[in-house]
Amino acid sequence: MKKWVYLFEEGYREIPAERRRDLLGGKGAGLAEMAGAGLPVPPGFTITTEACNAYFAAGRQFPEGLWEQVLEALHRVEEKVGRRFGDPQNPLLVSVRSGAKFSMPGMMDTVLNVGLTDETVKGLIAQTGDERFAYDAYRRLIQMFGRIVKGIPGERFEHILDRYKAKTKGKQDTDLTAEMLRDIVEEFKALYRKELEAEFPQDPLEQLRQAIRAVFDSWFGKRAVDYRNFYKIPHDLGTACNVQTMVFGNMGFDSATGVAFTRNPATGEKELYGEYLPNAQGEDVVAGIRTPLKITKKASQEWAREHGISEEERRLRYPSLEELMPETYRQFLEVAALLERHYRDVQDLEFTIERGRLWMLQTRTGKRTAKAAVKIAVDMVHEGLITKEEAVMRVEPEQINQLLLPRFDEKAKERAREKGDLLARGLNASPGAATGHAVFDADTAEAWGRDGRPVILVRPETTPDDVHGMIAARGILTQRGGATSHAAVVARGLGKPAVVGCEALQIDLERKQFSVNGRVIREGDFISIDGSTGEVFAGQIPTIDPNLAEERELAELLSWADEFRRLRVWANADYPRDARKAREFGAEGIGLARTEHMFFETDRLPYVRQMILNAPEAQRLMDQLRAAQQAAQARPDDPKAQKALRAAERAVRASKAVKAYRKALDRLLPVQRKDFEGLFEAMDGLPVIIRLIDPPMHEFLPRYEELLAEVVELRTRIEERRKIKGYRPRKGEKSIRQMEEELAEKEALLRAVNALREMNPMLGLRGVRLGILYPDIIRLQVRAILEAACNVKRRGITPRPEIMIPLSADVKELQIVREIVDEVAREVTAREGVEIEYKFGTMIEVPRAALLAGEIAQVAEFFSFGTNDLTQTVWAISRDDAEGKFLLRYLEEKIVPENPFQVLDRKGVGRLMRMAVEEGRRTRPDLEVGICGEHGGDPSSIEFCHEIGLNYVSASPYRVPVARLAAAQAALKERAARIETR
Ligand code: ADP
Ligand code: MG
Ligand code: MG
Repeated sequence: MKKWVYLFEEGYREIPAERRRDLLGGKGAGLAEMAGAGLPVPPGFTITTEACNAYFAAGRQFPEGLWEQVLEALHRVEEKVGRRFGDPQNPLLVSVRSGAKFSMPGMMDTVLNVGLTDETVKGLIAQTGDERFAYDAYRRLIQMFGRIVKGIPGERFEHILDRYKAKTKGKQDTDLTAEMLRDIVEEFKALYRKELEAEFPQDPLEQLRQAIRAVFDSWFGKRAVDYRNFYKIPHDLGTACNVQTMVFGNMGFDSATGVAFTRNPATGEKELYGEYLPNAQGEDVVAGIRTPLKITKKASQEWAREHGISEEERRLRYPSLEELMPETYRQFLEVAALLERHYRDVQDLEFTIERGRLWMLQTRTGKRTAKAAVKIAVDMVHEGLITKEEAVMRVEPEQINQLLLPRFDEKAKERAREKGDLLARGLNASPGAATGHAVFDADTAEAWGRDGRPVILVRPETTPDDVHGMIAARGILTQRGGATSHAAVVARGLGKPAVVGCEALQIDLERKQFSVNGRVIREGDFISIDGSTGEVFAGQIPTIDPNLAEERELAELLSWADEFRRLRVWANADYPRDARKAREFGAEGIGLARTEHMFFETDRLPYVRQMILNAPEAQRLMDQLRAAQQAAQARPDDPKAQKALRAAERAVRASKAVKAYRKALDRLLPVQRKDFEGLFEAMDGLPVIIRLIDPPMHEFLPRYEELLAEVVELRTRIEERRKIKGYRPRKGEKSIRQMEEELAEKEALLRAVNALREMNPMLGLRGVRLGILYPDIIRLQVRAILEAACNVKRRGITPRPEIMIPLSADVKELQIVREIVDEVAREVTAREGVEIEYKFGTMIEVPRAALLAGEIAQVAEFFSFGTNDLTQTVWAISRDDAEGKFLLRYLEEKIVPENPFQVLDRKGVGRLMRMAVEEGRRTRPDLEVGICGEHGGDPSSIEFCHEIGLNYVSASPYRVPVARLAAAQAALKERAARIETR
């Protein structure tokens, strides 16, 4: 016969530790282990998760033998405590508690006091001599059984209770008299009868059977199923069910119940942290019926200070457990320390004190904030409790990202909460804190943002039309949508805090306001959102900017991570200030400096435009000249060739386009040189990968449609003025002549922009293709890089430039460009008399480059996977068009497990990467390979990069610490797997 039921101590003895949680659930395993360690645990037993699965397999029927085993186990418990279930003289009461492997909201709560009936309640009175207590326990059972097992709305019971409380002086549940409670029991039974057309079960075994069924049934309750779907928890784990002897914290003022963490879960401080209530039963502490008291004296005094309560009043009305029951308190401290040592991690404990006697009801790993996670891990290493490896594995890389984002001052947040400024809670969609004026449309957000005002964009939900406003906003708040809604996805991409799906808000777009719980927030009012917790506040809460040097524990943890990782961590940085930040965060190089950002700055854009607009014509003439030169050289005696050469020379000399083109290049050279000097300086001694110009040209030019509109408008204005006889411009107005000149200029620009227009610019003239067509642009950039290197080297700095070619697909492209690069480098270094070592390499971002990596490595000394474009090209998906649109559907329908732009698609994109690494290294064993796409900062993607043997990952400066930790975890996981397979 299958064993479905384990007494707690049997679970400890008979089930190996690594199977316990699977079979007994988290709560059951904790109870078994505490019982096994000889701690005071009220006797009881656990029905296994297998029993739950068998129950469903049999069409919601208890499997064979289950009920008999429950009765048998119950009998053993009865013997242990010397009371009988259903005994009218000396009844045993139990709680029925659900508990799956992972703690899961949405599952059945606990039913306490099972076993009480009209008969046994008399026994309880006899047992305890306390009528008030007995009827209180009974009314709680009917209430919980009715609500949790039978689904009667809880407030129907609460109404009745409130009516009685209102009649008392203190208005609290402890003020209810025994008579009142007896009446309440009668009213509860009547309510039960009315709601269910059945009597509250007077057979204790029937109560137990129904409660166990309810625990099982809750496994497939809607909220539980949704939760598992969201967190990808399998549905076939099942839940266990714990049946445990009741102990009572509500037997007078020598009894109590409480919850505690072995360390402070907010700060990580090594101090017992928790609350308790004298004369109360388990659920009271969390239910917020009375203000819970602090367990330690120190915390109690702090609390009193913050609330302006005198020491005298505190000792009298709000004593700590330490003061109220010093003996039991000390025992509890010991138990807490023992459990922490046993589990080697912070424990979250539930306990009850019955007439001075301590009982442990639950232990589990304590949830903690990012800050606490780091501090606790580091402290435990220093205490010799865990190893550095364990510490590194214990902190989620994503979590430390939170420590390095702006966040609210906790004290200020607490004050805001107390002032009642906490408006609502939504989904914590994108971490970080932001405070700003509420604004209800993207255009206003953009306009105010431009004026330097901090704004928070508030929308029912966002669409691609809101993106410009989201960019300008400090944070985003939406009423609808989930963790993968447009707002969430875009906010995370932008690195902005966001709270989404905050259903409590009622947004009125027309009146530009929202209301929540009767409070109205109008456009311009300050609000504050915490994207890490999902909280939304009225008013301004100051934010704190993080500083790694001040985060001493984090710095230490990361230094351990650095000992374990094999991957290097570089950063994507376009500006010296980003490079410095990255270095401060531990970057060991720059994996991507994009040169085009430098071109977008307003002081340079005019020259960039001039360069682009004149490039085609200038290049055409220069190409003609070169052809003529070659022909003339080949046939020196051919007068025709000589003549053609002279004509070509004249054409070049006379060309305005050539002049303008060269002038633009000359103007850009010193600016670029300066940009690069700054980067080399910031990264003294470390590699800096500079990518040559990449985007399609039109991105630097005015938009065609806008230009066209301007031309049309100018034309009509000129027409109109012409119609007026003897028209004279007024002061400040342009003359017709001036307007005509302007028109001619605009028309020329329009023609040029039109000529550069592409059907599909992302697949058009960009990257290396530009360089092939306009080699002078490459020459300019390479010259700037090498001259900058020479300049800084003369100042004692060690520049390590690596020149990277984007978007190549064939080795021949690289051969052509490499020749130019090497030639310019020779020229510059010879002229400057400085030796510069540099590398030449390419991005791998189109499938063909990955497929032909072996050939490409003949010319390229390094590869850098540009996984943003590689994902786009492998999937044939345009990211801008996909995210927030059909990709959401793909995620919902689980066609893709994750957004492939956030988490590397290992199966598809990853396969190409693996291949490219192997083939590239076959050609060139010392090929340097890295990744510079956004995936370089994503922990799961980093793990993959480690697996396929990349040399480094490159992430945005703020994600460098995340990457350091993730890279270490990847290495440690690999090590553990190797040991396991040995
Ligand atoms: P949850 O998972 O919601 O914490 P629990 O099963 O831990 O549910 O129970 C809810 C409350 O009831 C807790 O405060 C717990 O300590 C208390 N409780 C559960 N079983 C007993 C018991 N046998 N005696 C006293 N209190 C109990
Ligand atoms: Mg619960
Ligand atoms: Mg609990």
